[in-house]
Amino acid sequence: MASKEFRCANVGYSECDWRLEGNSEAEMLPQIEDHAFKVHHLELKEEAIEHVRNAIQDVA
Ligand SMILES: [Zn+2]
Repeated sequence: MASKEFRCANVGYSECDWRLEGNSEAEMLPQIEDHAFKVHHLELKEEAIEHVRNAIQDVA
């Protein structure tokens, strides 16, 4: 059971419907970085990673 969720739309890509479920930031971050790079051609730097962390929400 996933306890956390990330939606790409929550970091500004409102046209992107990609979402990811996971149990920890450590588990999810590499997959988010992979998505950002492959789909948005974006290399996540420190600042962006902070933004991504803030967008990872707990699922009830
Ligand atoms: Zn995306």
